Amino acid sequence: DKAVFFFGNGKAEAGREDRDLLGGKGANLMEMTNLGVPVPPGFTIACNLCDLYLASGKVPNGLHADVENAIARLEEAAGRRFGDVTNPLLVSVRSGARVSMPGMMETILNLGLNDDTVKGLAAQSGSPRFAYDSYRRLLQMYGDVVLGVPFADFEHLLAAKRLTTGAKTDAELPAESLMVLVQEYQALIKTVTGKPFPHDPREQLWGAIEAVWRSWTLKKAVDYRRVNHIAETPGTAVNIVAMVFGNLGDDSGTGVAFTRDPSTGEKRFYGEFLVNAQGEDVVAGIRTPEPIERMAQHLPQAYEDLLRTQALLERHFRDMQDLEFTVERGKLYLLQTRTGKRTAAAAVRIARELVHEGLITQPEALQRVPAKQLDQLLHPIIDRRSKPQAIAKGLPASPGAASGMVVFDADVAEARGARGESVILVCDETTPEDFHGMVAARAILTARGGMTSHAAVVARGMGKCAIVGCDAIRVNAGNRRFTVGETEVVEGDWITLDGATGDVFLGDLPTVPSEVMQVNAGTRKAADAPVYQGFAELLAWADGQRRLSVRANADTPHDAQVARAFGAEGIGLCRTEHMFFDGDRIHSMREMIVAHDEGGRRRALGKLLPMQRGDFEGIFAAMDGFPVTIRLLDPPLHEFLPHGGEEAKLLARRIGVTRRELMRLVETLRESNPMLGHRGCRLGVTYPEITEMQARAIFEAATACQQRGIVVKPEIMIPLVSTVEEFRHQRRIVDRMAEIVRTETGTRVEYLVGTMIELPRAALTAAAIAKEAEFFSFGTNDLTQTTLGLSRDDAGRFLPLYVERGIYPEDPFQVLDVDGVGRLISMATADGRGSRPALKVGICGEHGGDPKSVAFCHQTGLDYVSCSPFRVPIARLAAAQAT
Ligand code: ADP
Ligand code: MG
Ligand code: MG
Repeated sequence: DKAVFFFGNGKAEAGREDRDLLGGKGANLMEMTNLGVPVPPGFTIACNLCDLYLASGKVPNGLHADVENAIARLEEAAGRRFGDVTNPLLVSVRSGARVSMPGMMETILNLGLNDDTVKGLAAQSGSPRFAYDSYRRLLQMYGDVVLGVPFADFEHLLAAKRLTTGAKTDAELPAESLMVLVQEYQALIKTVTGKPFPHDPREQLWGAIEAVWRSWTLKKAVDYRRVNHIAETPGTAVNIVAMVFGNLGDDSGTGVAFTRDPSTGEKRFYGEFLVNAQGEDVVAGIRTPEPIERMAQHLPQAYEDLLRTQALLERHFRDMQDLEFTVERGKLYLLQTRTGKRTAAAAVRIARELVHEGLITQPEALQRVPAKQLDQLLHPIIDRRSKPQAIAKGLPASPGAASGMVVFDADVAEARGARGESVILVCDETTPEDFHGMVAARAILTARGGMTSHAAVVARGMGKCAIVGCDAIRVNAGNRRFTVGETEVVEGDWITLDGATGDVFLGDLPTVPSEVMQVNAGTRKAADAPVYQGFAELLAWADGQRRLSVRANADTPHDAQVARAFGAEGIGLCRTEHMFFDGDRIHSMREMIVAHDEGGRRRALGKLLPMQRGDFEGIFAAMDGFPVTIRLLDPPLHEFLPHGGEEAKLLARRIGVTRRELMRLVETLRESNPMLGHRGCRLGVTYPEITEMQARAIFEAATACQQRGIVVKPEIMIPLVSTVEEFRHQRRIVDRMAEIVRTETGTRVEYLVGTMIELPRAALTAAAIAKEAEFFSFGTNDLTQTTLGLSRDDAGRFLPLYVERGIYPEDPFQVLDVDGVGRLISMATADGRGSRPALKVGICGEHGGDPKSVAFCHQTGLDYVSCSPFRVPIARLAAAQAT
């Protein structure tokens, strides 16, 4: 197979379509060459040679000869010879993999210089300063990357030279100092490695090529690939490119630019450059670069060429490009072009505008925006104009920005939250017991736990900002304080979190609602909101393309309204138990639970009925015309009971028992494995009056709404069914209540009764259940727990390790386990539809808002996915991307 590909003189042996073979950098250099864009000549060693080298530790057979040939062609094209003492060819040796891994691997510039060729370069360029500056850069990069001499050692010598000459920047160092520095650098290399710097250009070249290959295995590169799911093979290509020089004086320079603004997406040429500089000087931050527009003054011809070239490249690649360029004595050269990284806001805006400019189609635009990032556009953002400094950084578990006073206890959070204060709950980690505190807090910060920890999952569900696993903070909840290094933060101090980056700041930083939310709230006009326009139009295109419908998980009328605003086409999961926690309701609920007999239960349920009915009315009204799936009571009853203290005393008084008696009662309800205990439809089977009350509330609310002209589509869902008999039992009660309400009101309401499939047995017997049930909703949270035998609340201890080791490809609670849980879903869907072709099938649970899982649901032929309101836009886009 051909291993080396040449480009130069306006012709290349490959192009952009060869990215897999030659890496992104090489393929695009060739593409630019073919386009007639000025690129210095060079050649690329294909990626798979890296693999061969790393496997054998040897330069693959035949490659030496191929490279020699390519060098001969390069010398021809450049009109210089490698190692020539009067007119030396210098090259850069650059890494470049299939997928861009910015800054992860190595590049060496000015290769081919030595004590002899440097003189030729000096004479030929007429600038000894330039020649020795280039040489010292080679020694520094080569010493660091190939020979393992610490970069800092070179920097010390360089800094000393600046000091002794009084130069403020490297660019001011005179030629004489650089000549001395070059000697010092060589001495340093000799001291550290015991060997002199290799003066033979070919030895330099191979040393550099092997170093680039080896940089594939640097820890940072390996980590980057793991986090970004980039394949370990075939490794990086190596690009050998004739040098052009931006450090030849004031008519030269180098820079980086984007064809559009990468943070806002605005269509304006955006970038920075430096006069008389080379390579990474712009990003290195030693000298402050100038905004790209200034190039018009310094290098007018090159600037004009650059403007033309950037427009050409964007049109050709049909996406925003990130460019690297160098100007040598007034002449422009492009050294790299690639698809530019961008924020979610920019991604949305650019995708939309490229469609309007006729560069891409709508379906292409939909693929251009990572669905996962869309929720960044919904959360408030920190106003970073004042450039605040973070005191610590944790895992960005749930995006958004929030400021508040630090509290260390859920009860304190609740109490202060109730007084209208903004608080941030800080703890080592949260447990379900802290839920009320999390509800009251503006944001959550934990010192431990990963992206799937309780705090992370719950916060994401609530659309609330959270930073987890922030191990730089030491929490001392007992003394109500935490420390970061020397800094101490005590209860009541203000901090600000950026959940999108994981940054923790001291103080109350100003935030601003996102543009999309401002428009949704009516405080900003859509016409002045380009990001909103992009967001809305992109999602409209997505709606036109997708087949899956998207619903929301919403428990309150307010959530239902939010969900509608985000484009939810119904509610896929309304958890009725959440309605029992508010205010006074919890007391009636508790009365019901501890009642001695059915009569006592019915009395307490009677108090709950009007409250449930009211909630349902609100939800039906918000979802006018759209289906609402209501799940009957699901959690084990003891979750509602007080754990002691004041609350228990209060309850005992209300129901007229002593505290001792009450605690005994509570004790009898305790279960050792509540997740598999007395919950779900098992409650309705043992206490049918609960199902009766809930069904009555639903039908009375639906009837009332329908009488007001609202189109109601209730879908009543029986949870945790494992056998069709349970379903039949519950369905009979629901149907009977429908009949009763109809007789009482004289109004018929259409409704469906279906079940949640969240136990493997239900999936396995789907054919039988579908004979009785009109819809299935896969409760993938529980189905994952029960299929994998994995408790979500306890998995935090080992799950991160499992993912890190690759035992699980991904966290199964975030990304659906397609091989296991997915198999049950597709089987049950097929079997269910076998008995009832019109069976409606959807999923609810965390996975409904995960793009990969949504794609699976599309492929499996589900009717809808349901997810938390803030993820509805993600699901809409992901459902379109899946088609
Ligand atoms: P990275 O992938 O880290 O960006 P590059 O291979 O692009 O590394 O090179 C780093 C820097 O060196 C870039 O700024 C690039 O413009 C510059 N550079 C690379 N090759 C040459 C060359 N042949 N002539 C001049 N500058 C070069
Ligand atoms: Mg680069
Ligand atoms: Mg469940």
